[in-house]
Amino acid sequence: MWRAAPLVHDGTLTEAAMELLHAVSGVDKALLRAARIRPSRSNWLHAPWYGRRRGGALTMGRTIWFTANWFDPKGLGSGSLKATYAWLLHLAHEVGHLPQAERFGQHLPGKARYTAAFVWQYAVRALLLQPHVHDGSPLEREADIGRQVLRDLVALDHERHPVVQAVHSGHAEHVRQWCAAHSVHLAELSVKHAARPAGPPDANA
Ligand SMILES: [Zn+2]
Repeated sequence: MWRAAPLVHDGTLTEAAMELLHAVSGVDKALLRAARIRPSRSNWLHAPWYGRRRGGALTMGRTIWFTANWFDPKGLGSGSLKATYAWLLHLAHEVGHLPQAERFGQHLPGKARYTAAFVWQYAVRALLLQPHVHDGSPLEREADIGRQVLRDLVALDHERHPVVQAVHSGHAEHVRQWCAAHSVHLAELSVKHAARPAGPPDANA
């Protein structure tokens, strides 16, 4: 059976994970609570325009689909501290798509418009022969702010960072207090990454 410390088995985020993801991405807690993380069984995530480099996740409405390797008990579903950090980085990006989907609406025409907006952005960049077709689109860059804040926050500590360890052990109150104590730094990082000019994302994204 797979295990990922930021997730409950029903596909919801733990309280501790919600606290940290809210702090780094600014996404509403109610929206994080409504999100469901699901394994994608087919390979439909590997649409031609979708960057494999991202490691396989896609947010549609309030469902975040992750590829099977994330649920592999011998892989990222092992429940290890290292896997927790990998999950958190990836989630910090994907939850950034949740408010975007809300903006476009939860009803079917809204979902269709959201998908169309993505495809249009990819198509424009592809036509202009721009590299990083997926990661460079405005919706992607907006969604990525939370991931970049988290990466800056933990700096070289990675999974050894105390806030990552607190999520790993499910100490929501710990995470809440840590984020409150570092709220100024968190706000500075958000501003820094929101203001970052367009450019290629770093290689290990
Ligand atoms: Zn994305």
